[in-house]
Amino acid sequence: MNYSRRGIEKKRNELHAKMPKFTNALGAGFYKAMIIVFVTAVLAGAFAGVGVFRGILVTAPDISTIDVRPTGYSSAVYDSDGNQMTKLVATNSNRIYQTIDKIPLDMQHAFVAMEDERFYEHNGIDIKGIARSAYIVLSTRDMSQGASTITQQLIKNSVFEKWASGESKFEKIKRKIQEQYLAIQLERQPGVTKESILELYLNTINLGQNTLGVQAAALRYFGKNASDLNLSEAAVIAAITSNPSRYNPISHPDNNATRRAIVLEKMLDQGYINDQTYAEAMADDPYERIQKVNQQTEENSINTYFVDAMVQEIMDDFQEKLGYSETQAYNMLYSGGLQIFATQDTKIQNLCDKVTGDPELYPDKTEYLLDYRVTGVDKDDNVQNFSAQMMEMYFKDQGKNGYDRLYPSEEDARADAEVYKKYLESQGYSIEAETISITPQPQISLSIMDQHTGYMKAVVGGRGKKEASLTLNRATDTKRQPGSTFKVVSAYAPAFDTGVRTLGSVEVDEPYNYANGRPVSNWYSSGYKGPVTLRYAIEQSMNIIAVKTLTAITPRVGYEYLLNFGFTTLVDNEVLSDGTVMSDVQQALALGGITHGVKNYELNAAYATIADQGVYREPIFYTKILDHDGNVLIDNTALPGKQVLKESTAWLLTSAMEDVVTKGTGASVNFGTQKIAGKTGTTTGENDVWFAGYTPYYTCTTWAGYDNNKKMYDKAQQRLARTVWRAVMEPLHEGLPEKDFVKPSDITTAVVCNKTGLLASSYDQAVGTAHSEFYRVDTVPSQSCSGIHTYNYICSLTGQAASETCPFRVAGTPAIPGWCPHSLDAAGNPRTDAVPTVNTLSSNNVVTMGGGEENGDIGAVDPAMMAALQAQQAAAAAAAQAAAAAAQAAAAPAP
Ligand SMILES: [Zn+2]
Ligand SMILES: [Zn+2]
Repeated sequence: MNYSRRGIEKKRNELHAKMPKFTNALGAGFYKAMIIVFVTAVLAGAFAGVGVFRGILVTAPDISTIDVRPTGYSSAVYDSDGNQMTKLVATNSNRIYQTIDKIPLDMQHAFVAMEDERFYEHNGIDIKGIARSAYIVLSTRDMSQGASTITQQLIKNSVFEKWASGESKFEKIKRKIQEQYLAIQLERQPGVTKESILELYLNTINLGQNTLGVQAAALRYFGKNASDLNLSEAAVIAAITSNPSRYNPISHPDNNATRRAIVLEKMLDQGYINDQTYAEAMADDPYERIQKVNQQTEENSINTYFVDAMVQEIMDDFQEKLGYSETQAYNMLYSGGLQIFATQDTKIQNLCDKVTGDPELYPDKTEYLLDYRVTGVDKDDNVQNFSAQMMEMYFKDQGKNGYDRLYPSEEDARADAEVYKKYLESQGYSIEAETISITPQPQISLSIMDQHTGYMKAVVGGRGKKEASLTLNRATDTKRQPGSTFKVVSAYAPAFDTGVRTLGSVEVDEPYNYANGRPVSNWYSSGYKGPVTLRYAIEQSMNIIAVKTLTAITPRVGYEYLLNFGFTTLVDNEVLSDGTVMSDVQQALALGGITHGVKNYELNAAYATIADQGVYREPIFYTKILDHDGNVLIDNTALPGKQVLKESTAWLLTSAMEDVVTKGTGASVNFGTQKIAGKTGTTTGENDVWFAGYTPYYTCTTWAGYDNNKKMYDKAQQRLARTVWRAVMEPLHEGLPEKDFVKPSDITTAVVCNKTGLLASSYDQAVGTAHSEFYRVDTVPSQSCSGIHTYNYICSLTGQAASETCPFRVAGTPAIPGWCPHSLDAAGNPRTDAVPTVNTLSSNNVVTMGGGEENGDIGAVDPAMMAALQAQQAAAAAAAQAAAAAAQAAAAPAP
């Protein structure tokens, strides 16, 4: 089939053109159309046999929708090793074609005995049967009653499937005649045999539980192929067909059992089985086996987080790349009989599931978040929905102060849901529907990508039992504040890439304010560290240095780099409903203080860019999709990456982030057998904790936090992102040889001063402020350090400026001019050179920060400050716009 946009339009026009003919009354037009269909079928059938008839099923007109008609086959999903992971199935599409030689004779006979006992003799219609029901027909004038042969049922199921509901009496009679006519015609066609008709029939009948055909039903009810069913089991399936809900062996085993006995009895009566086989089959109880298979099937039918994410990606791609409507995309995906090649590495996914599913991994204080929603009907039949928030308000009114829907155990949560339900009932509501979900907290998310291809290898969208398909996926849907993981991508990457800063550049850690006057907070409480290199600032996740760095390159440049890293959740001048203008183009961007937060897998892709030498690759969940005929619909196998950073920049950032893992804030993730680079992230108040990092093999990002945004005060909870990262990445790299990150040829080293960032002088060598650093060749400093180091340090004995040789050195502002006598020059004499200009500090803007554990870092800014900053920016932007407009107006020529 042709699924391109043009193909669909062509098909749609064909359907429009055909429909009037089919909806004609019993005129020549109708027969003519049907004859055309059959002649076509027969001509093709001479070559292709029954395959043609399947073609009729596929091309049959469909008046319920003008969209491309689903071909009605489930789609198969394969993992990166080519093993089937899952099937995507829509209603009426779980059909697995099985040829007649693979369907046991007992099964064939069971259907014939039950549905059409003269099937092997009649010519398409059953005259005897019709005569028998003539009385009904004559007395009621309803010809839809009475015998319908297997051939007729096949015609009805395939050609008239969508016309069956809501027909008038006349239409029913018309259809019945059409059926009989077509049944006779069909049986007369050369090449069409009783066997081929039965084969098609057994592959098209509805057998309940979203199955079509005996093979799908055999798998659904017995977990085996139709060819392996015994007589007893075949009779169960034959018993379903006349009413798939009433005789369903899962929901109504008793009804099915009664019906099964009739099937077996008819088979005995018609001579298909003997007394002994009849007795054996009757003695068998297949229903317990069915329940067992059912339990497994229901568990397996919930898609994983990976499949959920893949489904979403395919739905988007079908619409964006192939021009489908959403309905067409859905039909194609779930019933187009596609072959989908996922990027999932099932070994890695299983490892992640096993690790994150282990309760031992989590801190002791796991809590349970209750989400309970009820639909109730009051005495006057008014329907009302009660949300989880309404329940929360109820319990707060009951005096539960600080109630946040969190419980120490699932049982406690369930008990409160019951209390609330009783309360609603006491208010006169009868409960129509309820949904309850109880999820362990804090929650986690994880993504793993191969940075060299963009292939997503595994995702974990949360911990705890997954209750349904397409539930909240914290790895690909949820947006959370990225905290300090953003420093590298928003500030340092662009600063190094543009050559404005280097790893050896020195910035002073000192009191520092945003442009609006609010101070930037550090995560550590022990004052300020004075001049530090950017390498050290990355290692220690220093806030003030990151903001200074972003300010140096401008927030606009940082923002542009973030867009190149593939973030889709950032905003620039987004107007909220109340008129507030939000923009992420502001200084707090350096610390991840953004409007909406980021998605785990997008943050992961940004880090993967650094891991893969500056090449951004869109994270993808599948490589290729083939249609039902094996044609390629979409091929992502080798999508080109985009160089968004210089190779040298990526390598320098990697080098700095190796320090994070060997001696900085991320040391606890280091499992020792691989080169690791990465960055911690923690937001103000510990609402979100992150670790984004990579080895030469894989990039992995982990997040932990409460779904209801509760703060994590517990130290073990604050470490959770790092705990999960290591727990997954360590076993994942078992047996993989240790590799180096690839060092580009334009990287060189220079010995520089760590107080000025200039080439080291003899003074630096003497006092130990010289160190070796990596540079891109065109960014090596050209000036040498004069020996004058900029400090905010004083000698506590004299109150004068102090250098590192003074044993009484403390942070502070010199009150007395000149160097203290303990400050020596390179020759060991008291320093007499000019005291560097120091920032004059007034006591009211010296801020001592609280909070932050030794390995934590607080990256985000408080919302009030964000709002103030953004309001200020909006005002500035508006003023600039007004000024520009005024300038334009002034420049405009007079009329
Ligand atoms: Zn120096
Ligand atoms: Zn001194």
